[in-house]
Amino acid sequence: MDSCLFCQITAGKQECRKVIETSQLVGFHDTNPKAPVHVLIVPKRHVERPEELRVEELEDIFKQSEEVAQILGIKDSGYRLIFNVGSHAGQTIDHVHLHLLGGAPANVLY
Ligand code: 5GP
Ligand code: ZN
Repeated sequence: MDSCLFCQITAGKQECRKVIETSQLVGFHDTNPKAPVHVLIVPKRHVERPEELRVEELEDIFKQSEEVAQILGIKDSGYRLIFNVGSHAGQTIDHVHLHLLGGAPANVLY
């Protein structure tokens, strides 16, 4: 979708600080990080919500999140994986993305 920011980024039409790329997704640093490490793992195919993802896409997302944690040196210390779905969760970009947050102990969300 041309008007979607994450479609633009995953297609290489907008800049990002890329950590990882596969045929199905791109992982890149969040520009407004909520933790010392904050990476967004974003499927190239535009869907809004996690339940619309295919099994192979979900598998790739979770495998690559481990790879991102390894690359950035936080695999052993641990990290949080979050999908924000809809307005109460604070989803601001309607292109599904997994947040990977780490590098310090997490704050309680609720
Ligand atoms: P959401 O609130 O939809 O779950 O997450 C959207 C995330 O995208 C936010 O954490 C926000 O900081 C990040 N973000 C918004 N615009 C950009 C951008 O242009 N580049 C990058 N790398 N991250 C962005
Ligand atoms: Zn999109």
